[in-house]
Amino acid sequence: MEGAGENQNQIYKTCRKQTLKSTSMKKMSILLLSLCLSTMSISQTKVIAHRGAWKNSGVPENSIAALKHAIDLICYGSEFDVHLSADSIPFVLHDHSIQGTHIEKTSSIELNKIKLSNGESLPTLEAYLNAGKNQTKTRLILEIKSSSISKERSLNLARTCVLMVEKTGVASITDYIAFDFDVCLKVKELNPKAIVTYLNGDKSPEELAAAGLDGFDYHFRVLKNKEHWLEEAHKRNLTTNAWTVNDEETMRWLIDRKVNYITTNEPEKLLELLK
Ligand code: MG
Repeated sequence: MEGAGENQNQIYKTCRKQTLKSTSMKKMSILLLSLCLSTMSISQTKVIAHRGAWKNSGVPENSIAALKHAIDLICYGSEFDVHLSADSIPFVLHDHSIQGTHIEKTSSIELNKIKLSNGESLPTLEAYLNAGKNQTKTRLILEIKSSSISKERSLNLARTCVLMVEKTGVASITDYIAFDFDVCLKVKELNPKAIVTYLNGDKSPEELAAAGLDGFDYHFRVLKNKEHWLEEAHKRNLTTNAWTVNDEETMRWLIDRKVNYITTNEPEKLLELLK
């Protein structure tokens, strides 16, 4: 009977060892899987709709309708451009003029009378941000346009945008971009937590990191000429974004180089490519 007891003990010990081994293997598998998933989510390129998702939906670029389409597509971000009226009210529009009216030389009362081709009023920044709030899946990528009148007005626009973002309660889903390096620095000074990236293509990752900015958002041709900037930026924990990429070949070139974001007029095409 003692021999049978010893045998049972041995069997019990072997079973327990195997159970522990299989439990630790399961834990290891789960750990490896979560590591793979987190690496995938870091390296997966994300889609930013350039001036909203307007091209394939037939709505005007930079309209609230274009922003809503980008949100419906669950783009990572929706980009838009902001200028300051003569009486310092920020409006959303790409060019300096619309329908022959120069934004910076016109009062907000006059600008409010302008209709886009879909019947929407020319959006104020306040109306635009309010349309983009109450959701968290699509970030609002706010481009502060350089003034055609003075550097002082560009910096005033930066201050106005930061205040409006705070006022409308969208700071946690808003990032800033600008061609004017001083404007980028001003936004960081006003809100050090804000994510601010530079558009003009003439600063190295080292210079951007030294200035305390969060990354670059450069024309794709800049990155094709200076491919090493992508790797350098990633090493410095800077974000990388390329604009405005509408063809599949360039999209694939950037995805292969693990660019963080692609800004495109074709968000539907890029989303499909990334599936
Ligand atoms: Mg823009």
